[in-house]
Amino acid sequence: MQNKTIAQLAAELRLRHYSSVELTQHYLERIQRLDPQLNSFITVATESALAAAAQADQALKRGDAGPLTGIPIAHKDIFCTAGVKTTCGSKMLHNFIAPYDATVVAKLAAAGAVMLGKTNMDEFAMGSSNETSFYGAVANPWDRSRVPGGSSGGSAAAVAARLCPVATGTDTGGSIRQPAALCGITGIKPTYGRCSRWGMIAFASSLDQAGVLARSAADAAFILDEMAGFDERDSTSAEVAVPDYVDALDDDLHGLRIGLPKEYFAAGLDSRIATVIQDAIKEYERLGATVHDISLPNTPLAVPVYYVVAPAECSSNLARFDGVRYGHRCDNPLDLQDLYTRSRAEGFGAEVQRRILIGTYVLSAGYYDAYYLKAQQLRQLIADDFKRALTQVDVIMGPTSPTTAFPLGAKNTDPVAMYLNDIYTIATNLAGLPGMSIPVAPVDGLPVGLQIIGNYFEEARLLNIAHRLQQVTHWHQAAPTGFE
Ligand code: GLN
Repeated sequence: MQNKTIAQLAAELRLRHYSSVELTQHYLERIQRLDPQLNSFITVATESALAAAAQADQALKRGDAGPLTGIPIAHKDIFCTAGVKTTCGSKMLHNFIAPYDATVVAKLAAAGAVMLGKTNMDEFAMGSSNETSFYGAVANPWDRSRVPGGSSGGSAAAVAARLCPVATGTDTGGSIRQPAALCGITGIKPTYGRCSRWGMIAFASSLDQAGVLARSAADAAFILDEMAGFDERDSTSAEVAVPDYVDALDDDLHGLRIGLPKEYFAAGLDSRIATVIQDAIKEYERLGATVHDISLPNTPLAVPVYYVVAPAECSSNLARFDGVRYGHRCDNPLDLQDLYTRSRAEGFGAEVQRRILIGTYVLSAGYYDAYYLKAQQLRQLIADDFKRALTQVDVIMGPTSPTTAFPLGAKNTDPVAMYLNDIYTIATNLAGLPGMSIPVAPVDGLPVGLQIIGNYFEEARLLNIAHRLQQVTHWHQAAPTGFE
């Protein structure tokens, strides 16, 4: 049951081979039995899931089912869900129940999806290992002594372990693609503005984007079809027509020009990863693509630029958590100042505090030009690199992450080592481009992700390219031992 595709589930629910309540119970049972080994869920919404499933069964019986009616889904705990706790992985929001659904959540619910619960994540999506969560680290189902990646580590681990058919995530600098790579699943970060950010707790507003973690590109296409689109409540959401992502999956790849940036295969990349990535690219040549060497010369600037821009925006976004309006409040404040400072000191973890400090520093009057303004200028150079490259080639490919999943605890005392995990993913966010990660051959039994970057609003092409490889290879079907 847990290995079926979304298309199969949708068809079999319609044929009444099983009910949505049965399907939902199956996943709830798996979560209850298997998640203690992983900690991928912060909240399991048993009651509301079963109620939504019963409603889905009614709709199926009446014959007015939507495309996802009755299909279980998990949401990253960064999306507001009416009536179900939304913590963002933080103590600050340990008691926060949003009065409304995020647009992405509402759209998926309107399409008939049944929410199983909320997945674990790095606190306020700051991290690459899911170890900054107030609710504890998540284990990688392929090797439970290792990290699942982050910040959407709970979603990635839950999908890989077949605790849900599909999950949402968000990606500010790699948080969908990197955990997808480390957990051996398929993840897509759409173009900035493609999916609404309304009701998605803001980390860095000019970079954040919602997307999908799934077991295949075809599954991701089904979900993105329902998630994407303009939202008048998000002033940065794009008013660009949404194509049918499922329709484009089978398009032919003959003539596709693939660019390989030399900077993505340079020192720092595990050579065994380079080999399996090259092998996957050879598959694409067999499918009719041509391969071209390209350069993204400003790649070394991406991580430093991001660690000015993202903290700057986060320091502003997180100012709202002041112990007054909502979230954690300290006991017995002496005065207003004490209430603010103690609530924030108690509510935020170390990494979040580090980012707020960096952010307020780079935005301060004396340093604004030297850091923030400079970073914005360099951000443009990074975007221009992609613009130039994407006139020579149709898509860019390379590794998603320089290493496979690393041991829990290996990097969490060295922030810079942690930040370097996103060396291949961050530039895409700075440019606002769509990116995907799909599993290729593993290295030492651990998953490896191939990253595919496309031009603005070319999600359909990315999903198509990923799907064609998944039709002729089996890597995406492998399940971790104990979670088959
Ligand atoms: N790992 C990066 C960070 O810590 C990116 C996180 C993300 O994409 N949300 O900021």
